[in-house]
Amino acid sequence: MIETLHEKAPASPETYAYRNLLEGEFWRRIPAYRDVDEATFLDHLWQQRHSVKTPEELLETVRELASPEFIRDAELGFHRAPMAVRVSPYAIALVDWSNPYGDPIRRQFIPVASALLPDHPRLVLDSLHEQADSPVPGLVHRYVDKALFLPLAVCPVYCRFCTRSYAIGPDTENVDKVELAKTPKQWQDVFAYIASRPELEDVVISGGDVYQLPPKNIEFIGNTLLDIPHVRRMRFASKGPAIMPMKLITDTAWVDALAKVVERGRAMGKDVVLHTHFNAPEEITEITRRAMRVLFERGVFVRNQSVLIRGVNDKPERMQRLVKRLGYVNVHPYYVYMHDMVKGVEDLRTTIATAENVEKFVRGSTAGFNTPTFVCDAPGGGGKRDVHSYEHYDRENGIAVYAAPSVKPGRAFLYFDPIDQLSPAAQARWRDETVAREMIHEALRRAGQRDEALVIA
Ligand SMILES: *Cc1c(COP(=O)(O)O)cnc(C)c1O
Ligand code: SF4
Repeated sequence: MIETLHEKAPASPETYAYRNLLEGEFWRRIPAYRDVDEATFLDHLWQQRHSVKTPEELLETVRELASPEFIRDAELGFHRAPMAVRVSPYAIALVDWSNPYGDPIRRQFIPVASALLPDHPRLVLDSLHEQADSPVPGLVHRYVDKALFLPLAVCPVYCRFCTRSYAIGPDTENVDKVELAKTPKQWQDVFAYIASRPELEDVVISGGDVYQLPPKNIEFIGNTLLDIPHVRRMRFASKGPAIMPMKLITDTAWVDALAKVVERGRAMGKDVVLHTHFNAPEEITEITRRAMRVLFERGVFVRNQSVLIRGVNDKPERMQRLVKRLGYVNVHPYYVYMHDMVKGVEDLRTTIATAENVEKFVRGSTAGFNTPTFVCDAPGGGGKRDVHSYEHYDRENGIAVYAAPSVKPGRAFLYFDPIDQLSPAAQARWRDETVAREMIHEALRRAGQRDEALVIA
C-alpha cells in the first residue's frame, strides 16, 4: 500500500511566543514599588490602597521614570477627562515608562491632553441610550430575554473609554453622573422587575464592577436571582482579572462567594459564569495565569469581552496574540466590541474597516470557540450587531448603517468612524454641516431606509 504523507512544516517558536508570560518581580522597576515583596504585591487590599487617582500620586509612584513633560501633559489630561482616573499598581507596573505615549496600558487608563481629538459631531453622552431602555434605576432591559443589572457605580480601575461614563465613578469636571441603584434596598426594585417579567432568562450583573462588591453581596445578588424560577443564566462582569488578578489569589472570601453561587446554580441546572475584559496581551502575566487557574479549578467558567482600541489591540498581530493568550489561560474570547462613541476619547476609536481586517486575520488562528465575534453595539440602542452585518457602509466618509430586526424592528442605527482616520477630502466634508447631513442621508438611502423619523443616532 502506498501512502502519500505530507508533513506540515514545524511552526517557528515565534508562533507560540504568546505563551511566554511576564514573570518575576517586575513591579520593582517602579520606584515606589522597589521594596515591595511578592506577598505585598499580591495582596488585593494593598493594590486597592495604592491605586493612583491623581497626577500627584502618579508622579510620586513613577518619579524619574516619567519626564516632567509627560506628567504635565497627564495633569491637563486628568482635568479634561469625562472619567475619573484610577489605576492599579499592577497596571502601573506593566506600563513601559520609557515610552508612555505609545504604551497600550497607559493609553487605556491615563489621559494626556496632547493626544485629545475633537469629538465626532454626532457623538452624545450615553450613546447606547441605556437610560431610555431602563425601566427601574440600575437595570437596562433592551433585549427580550436578557437584562443588564448595574448594582454599583465603582470599579477597581476607571477606563478612559468607559461606555458608562454617564454614570460610572465620581463626578468629574465635565460630567455629573447619573444615579444608579447602589444599595441592597434599591436593588429590590430591580429584583421585583425581573421577577415580574417571565421572558427574562438571562441577567448580566455589571456596573461598575462586581470586584467591588463584598462577598456577602455577591451571594445575595446571586442567590436572589437564582431563586427567580425563569432566570436560567447569569454572568457576573468584572474588569478585575485584567488589572488586579491577584485578588483571585488572595481574596479567598470573594472567590468562595462567587464559587458558591456557581455551584448552587449548577445544582439547580442554571448557568453562572464570570465575564471579564482584557484588552492588551501585556495584561496577561504569570500572576494572571495563577489567578485564572484558581477559577478554573473552582469550576468558574470565564469569558472575555474586549474593546477594539487604537494603539492597544487594533493591529491584527496584537489581537491575535491577545486571543491566543486568553485561550492559553483558560479564558474564552467572546466579543471584541467596536469602541462606543464615547466623549473625550476619539483618539482611542478605530474604523469599522479596521475591525473587519483584524477579524479576518484572527479567524483561523485558533479554535473556533476561542475566536471572538466582532460586534458594534449600535448607537441609539440597537444592541450588538456583527460588525460586518451593516446594511450599508460608506467607507470613504466613515458611516455605517445597521438594522436590528429582533431588537428595534424597522429602525436604522448609525455608527461613525473617527474623523481623523478618514481622507483629507472626507474630513473637509464633515466640516460642512449641510454636506455632512447629505452624506448621512445618502448612506441611509443606500441602506434602504427612507423614513428619517426611524433613524436613531
Ligand atoms: C450586552 C448586553 C447584554 C448581553 O448581550 P449578549 O450579546 O448576550 O452578551 C444584555 N443587555 C444589554 C443592555 C447589553 O448591553
Ligand atoms: S471597568 Fe468597566 S464599567 Fe468600570 S470604568 Fe472600566 S469599562 Fe467602565
